[in-house]
Amino acid sequence: MTISYPYLDLKSLYLRVKPEVDEAMMKTMNSGYYVLGKEVEQFEEAFAAYIGVKFCVGVGNGLDAIRLSLMALDIGPGDEVIIPANTYIATALAISEVGATPVLVEPNPLTYNIDPQKIEEKITKKTKVILPVHLYGQPADMTAILKIAKKYHLQVIEDNAQAHGAEWRGKKTGSFGVLSATSFYPGKNLGAFGDGGAVTTNSLALAKKVRYLANYGQKIKYINLYKGINSRLDEVQAAALKVKLPYLNEWNQERREIALQYGEALRELPDIQLPVADKYATPVWHIYPILIKKRDLVREELAKDGVQTLIHYPLPMHFQKAYPEWAKYKNHLPITEKIHREELSLPLFPGMKKAHFEQVIKSLRKISATL
Ligand SMILES: *Cc1c(COP(=O)(O)O)cnc(C)c1O
Repeated sequence: MTISYPYLDLKSLYLRVKPEVDEAMMKTMNSGYYVLGKEVEQFEEAFAAYIGVKFCVGVGNGLDAIRLSLMALDIGPGDEVIIPANTYIATALAISEVGATPVLVEPNPLTYNIDPQKIEEKITKKTKVILPVHLYGQPADMTAILKIAKKYHLQVIEDNAQAHGAEWRGKKTGSFGVLSATSFYPGKNLGAFGDGGAVTTNSLALAKKVRYLANYGQKIKYINLYKGINSRLDEVQAAALKVKLPYLNEWNQERREIALQYGEALRELPDIQLPVADKYATPVWHIYPILIKKRDLVREELAKDGVQTLIHYPLPMHFQKAYPEWAKYKNHLPITEKIHREELSLPLFPGMKKAHFEQVIKSLRKISATL
């Protein structure tokens, strides 16, 4: 089947900024300097200012950004880290990598973000960190999460990979946790031309520690303070990200307008649950998730019309072979399981054409009438 209406068109987004991006990348190529130079430094400064924090450390990818944040807080074997049960598996993998144990908490059935009311019952003597994920570009309830963290003397690390520019009560996600991890994977709201990530924080000491840990644990070359890893943001990627960052608000606004139009057009259709934003949340719609009972059938029918959709995510973490120890949770995480069974991500990206949007709506209306 041909895809006439792709889920995402990264090339069209590149073409909008091509002259500037090409120039910045070529300039970096010609500089002869490719790792940990002034492009990374300048991007870090710009991204920290954008998020509203003092420090940003560019790293290799989003998974490593979470891992390095945990390492900076000395989280390891015997420690528990609370995460939403319906997140992308990278959140859990980072915790497993440092030897700690991810603890799954069900999401709110309307916002799909970790349900603060269900966090407290999962806190034990071993709990060290609450790690909310601003899933689908929707900010988690940071007010409630910070309150619980304070009460139990826990640290908060945010997974901000899907929510560049989102706000909770007028403050950017990525600025609430003691550390916040993000990804610049190409498809994220701010995407590189390859892998990239960052950690944001207001703590100078933690920023330095993350920086050393990401570079073999060394402060000065060949003098190693920690058992670090190699996870650095490349100069060429930083150069491109620096060019794209000033466009992020405009692109997020385009996403919001499309999301608004989806909401208006789909409201009348039966059997579709539309995403709900909390009244304190300004989402950035990394994903536009609808819930629909006959999801797989609807997806196939859309594909027949050339409309590509995705599923975020087809298999919950506790069904994955990678986590056999979570098989016992089967049927015990009903909200998570329902989301994975029914979630369908509609095409949404900056620059998406009106005809593209209209075809999605037209096809959905037609299919909905036959269900
Ligand atoms: C993309 C993503 C990550 C991982 O980022 P990578 O750069 O691909 O390693 C982590 N958490 C969430 C929620 C993500 O969407």
